Amino acid sequence: MSSATPFVPSQNIAQLRESATIAVSQKAKALKAAGRTIIDLGAGEPDFDTPAFIRQAAVDALEAGATRYTAVDGILPLRQVIADHANARYTGAGRVLATDVVVSTGSKQSLYNACVCLFGPGDEVLVPTPAWTSYYEMVELARATPVEVLGDPSNGFKVTPLLLEARATARTKGIMLNSPSNPTGSVYAPEELRAILDLATSRGWYVLSDEIYQRIAYDRPAVSALDVATVRDRLVVINGVAKAYAMTGWRIGWTVSSPAVAKAMTAFQSHTTSNAATVSQHAALAALARVDEADLAVNAMVAAFHARRDAALAILRQEPRIEVLDPQGAFYLFLRAPAAPGGISDGDAFCARLLDEAGLAIVPGSAFRTPEWVRVSYAADQSDVERAMHMLVKTYRAVLEGTG
Ligand code: GLU
Repeated sequence: MSSATPFVPSQNIAQLRESATIAVSQKAKALKAAGRTIIDLGAGEPDFDTPAFIRQAAVDALEAGATRYTAVDGILPLRQVIADHANARYTGAGRVLATDVVVSTGSKQSLYNACVCLFGPGDEVLVPTPAWTSYYEMVELARATPVEVLGDPSNGFKVTPLLLEARATARTKGIMLNSPSNPTGSVYAPEELRAILDLATSRGWYVLSDEIYQRIAYDRPAVSALDVATVRDRLVVINGVAKAYAMTGWRIGWTVSSPAVAKAMTAFQSHTTSNAATVSQHAALAALARVDEADLAVNAMVAAFHARRDAALAILRQEPRIEVLDPQGAFYLFLRAPAAPGGISDGDAFCARLLDEAGLAIVPGSAFRTPEWVRVSYAADQSDVERAMHMLVKTYRAVLEGTG
């Protein structure tokens, strides 16, 4: 009898960990399928349907024959509208052209394209921490080294030039920015963002600015790096339709970069996935080009997220021992896990207990390299969010008091 040869992962993925954000929602789905009542505040996925005019545009495009390959970097009208939106913000050197835009299968792919094409062995990449779980892994998949730059929790974990400089070396090649931030919900003010871009320019670092939550901001608009940049030869802005337009499953993201970087990423993508799904590109085109209809839909969804944020915070704040950040954007709450008497805050243990005792799925802060914290997504039905926050407060108190 032949014995099976054990699988030995390649060097490329030897250190790879699966996405913790995805894992939480998979687990919640599996528990639901097994009959348990679960509130899933794990993955950051809007609970709304894609707006009707976008769905109809996709149907129309299909009927008109949008079923074949497109250019690797996307259909021209979509790249042009993305360039137009960028030029409405950017007043620095070098207008944005359609050829500076690469459309991909989601902003996740755009980020990966950028990491692989810009970073490599020996390079260090500054990652303001906490940050979305996949940044660290993508930088490592590019065989570069992610360097955590821990923000100050009293400043919403935002980083400053001083903090970045303290972790920079001669090997630093770039920085990953994300405002509004997943997982903290923090939003950089224009002057904060400008100061970081100025530092990056003076050091010759690439800036990867992930702006997937840019339209989801509450108390004031979130600025794009394009609003404050004066040059863009080392700036790569990443965005997509998933979060603001409730289009997670359509898988459309893009980059706005220098022509040379766009060319490299297109070449890379030509060997990995080719064009993003043709019908999805047409749906994204409707979302971006039909501005009035889109604004109505997006504003309504953002207003709903806003109401949920306020409702969730009001419940959490009834327990003054809960240390929760004040999120200005995205749809996440970030709070410090409770510490049992004599112990320390343990996000993993708190999440496990919430799932076990209350059927509530949230993401441990270890996914974002801050294991004392936890992330709650409020991109879910408001009554579920409120019910979940009451459960969370109850379990929080039980841990603090060493009961249960
Ligand atoms: N970005 C979302 C999250 O952080 C969706 C899951 C993922 O791709 O990580 O929950």
